[in-house]
Amino acid sequence: MHIDENMGFGSKAVHAGAIDCLGSAVTPIFQTSTFGFRDVDHGARCFSGEENGYIYTRIGNPTITELEDAVASLEGGFGGVAVSSGMAAVNTVYMAFLSQGKHLVAHNSLYGPSRGVMESIYPKYGVESTFVDATVVENVKNAIKENTALIYLETPANPTMGIMDIEAICKIAHERNIPVCVDNTFCSPYLQQPLALGADVVLHSVTKFINGHADIVGGIVVAKEKENYTKLRSIMVNMGFNMDPHQAWLTRRGLKTLPIRMERAQENAMKVAEFLENHPKVEWVLYPGLKSHPQYELAQRQMKGAGSTIAFSLKGGLEAGKKMMNNVHLALLAVSLGGIETLIQHPASMTHSKLSKEARESAGITDGLIRLAVGIENIEDIIADLSNALDAE
Ligand SMILES: *Cc1c(COP(=O)(O)O)cnc(C)c1O
Repeated sequence: MHIDENMGFGSKAVHAGAIDCLGSAVTPIFQTSTFGFRDVDHGARCFSGEENGYIYTRIGNPTITELEDAVASLEGGFGGVAVSSGMAAVNTVYMAFLSQGKHLVAHNSLYGPSRGVMESIYPKYGVESTFVDATVVENVKNAIKENTALIYLETPANPTMGIMDIEAICKIAHERNIPVCVDNTFCSPYLQQPLALGADVVLHSVTKFINGHADIVGGIVVAKEKENYTKLRSIMVNMGFNMDPHQAWLTRRGLKTLPIRMERAQENAMKVAEFLENHPKVEWVLYPGLKSHPQYELAQRQMKGAGSTIAFSLKGGLEAGKKMMNNVHLALLAVSLGGIETLIQHPASMTHSKLSKEARESAGITDGLIRLAVGIENIEDIIADLSNALDAE
């Protein structure tokens, strides 16, 4: 790692991991699939791990290493493993810790496919799972079984904005030697650092805040300890979940402005949340920055800020919500979040439509729930757009 560990977050976001190449200010894109060896013995030393040379881009590439080192530095972990998507990150973690006969405990409201794959794919390989409301620590404790091999949290949760006590859950898990993974996509390391709170592994869909510009899909996993890092890296390499150098380069560029993007987006989100909470057509709003959020105190303690994702529902239910979503102009009716542009979507028919209605309802993903990802546009324009859409007849 080419950085002073004592530097502030903003400085690390700009510089961490950078590789000086012929004096370049920016690490170049090493657009190459393979790397030549000096001689046969050099090749053998690279393969055996005796020497740290690059071999082949699926295994490692300097542009990808830069991103991995940067995010690992920001999360305070031993090392990062960049992968092709957020879902590749989720599956890297699942495959590293779960195998036939093992059991997962997870929060009931997760990013749709993170729960979906546990219900549709992993049972084929003999992996069991239990989904509970992990905002209540006791529920996690009660769900742990003899064969529980991973506790998986996502906080704030997608799309219900439920918040889990990372520190308390890690304590319970570690008493039983069970690793804990936190999907930190909604916060980014700027607002929340799960490894410092006790988690063993943290992951991101870098598609969201880390890249932040809605122009790539990608993921990363960071492990606190070398042993887990090695396990995760082996899954990435052997399953072919690797990131591409160009994707890594764009992501590293986006990451440089994470702190200022996040500050602006969450400042906007707070104003939007207050606007919605005071609007006569709005039934409820869930945003960790509002005192009305059920885990407001925990959010204050665990997160440096409330982020920029909001869930809300209109008094007119699904029909009123559809009318609103069909009448926005500045906001884009689209899935995803954490970008510079404001996005609005309907989880029950979009991101969480693959779950059964029963699973959705029990996790609080009601048909009327709307998810808003607030961008960095001018706040007056965002509020005017939402206000007009709410007034549309
Ligand atoms: C988007 C998202 C994912 C999946 O990421 P992709 O990059 O779309 O594969 C996982 N977790 C959370 C919380 C997300 O928002």
